[in-house]
Amino acid sequence: MTFPAFPDAVPALSDPSGLTALAALATLPALAAASPAGAAAASAAVFALEFVLVVLLVDLASGVGHWLEDTYGNPDTPLIGRLVIVPNLEHHRQPRAFLAKSWLESCGDLMLAGALLVAAAWSLDLLTWHVVAFALVGSQANQIHKWAHQNPQEKGAFVHLLQRMRLLQTPREHGRHHQGATDSHYCTVTNALNPLLERLRIWRRLENLLARAFGLRPRTDPSTGQRDAGRAAVKARTGAVSAAARLPLPSSVRR
Ligand SMILES: [Zn+2]
Ligand SMILES: [Zn+2]
Repeated sequence: MTFPAFPDAVPALSDPSGLTALAALATLPALAAASPAGAAAASAAVFALEFVLVVLLVDLASGVGHWLEDTYGNPDTPLIGRLVIVPNLEHHRQPRAFLAKSWLESCGDLMLAGALLVAAAWSLDLLTWHVVAFALVGSQANQIHKWAHQNPQEKGAFVHLLQRMRLLQTPREHGRHHQGATDSHYCTVTNALNPLLERLRIWRRLENLLARAFGLRPRTDPSTGQRDAGRAAVKARTGAVSAAARLPLPSSVRR
């Protein structure tokens, strides 16, 4: 039985990016302070707001890491090439293949990185709940990525609901990365940051900066032949993503 890469439609409960909900959170401290519950409610609201900012920071970190892997990662680099870059290239070629990995196989390396981060913060006397939350949420970034490739039956009703609430990234949002030259929409945790980063052309600006400063050139993805070659071909046609270079999305998620 085969599944499409991004199988399910996840209708939004609010706006597609989730930014409206995030903006509403920013008003909570003032509202809570005016309520009879007073300071306790206000601090709970501040806690919620700070937690959202931590999640957005994790999302940004996932985007930066993913962009570095996709843009400059060399499969021949010792250790990192075999452990990170090769599986990443394989994921572009066969987006659903990594679903066969167990939770521990998918998240083990990030959990180790999270533990090292917490230990480093503790040793420097900088440990706060924000660091712990960043490590905990960040350690599950690959699992959140997997959920974006799963059917509702595979990921379960609760995760599907979190995607509908735009608290986790949706299949449709992540599907944008797998279209065309896989050189956009690198953040994999929420729907909130990708639209903003793409509008600001952050990744292209960073690439231009690194090219000018250090002569670094983005590499072509050997698994798809995309990137430089793919981009040139796409641009030569219509300036839009070519149908041939596009991974098929089911009609249910082309919204
Ligand atoms: Zn990628
Ligand atoms: Zn993916």
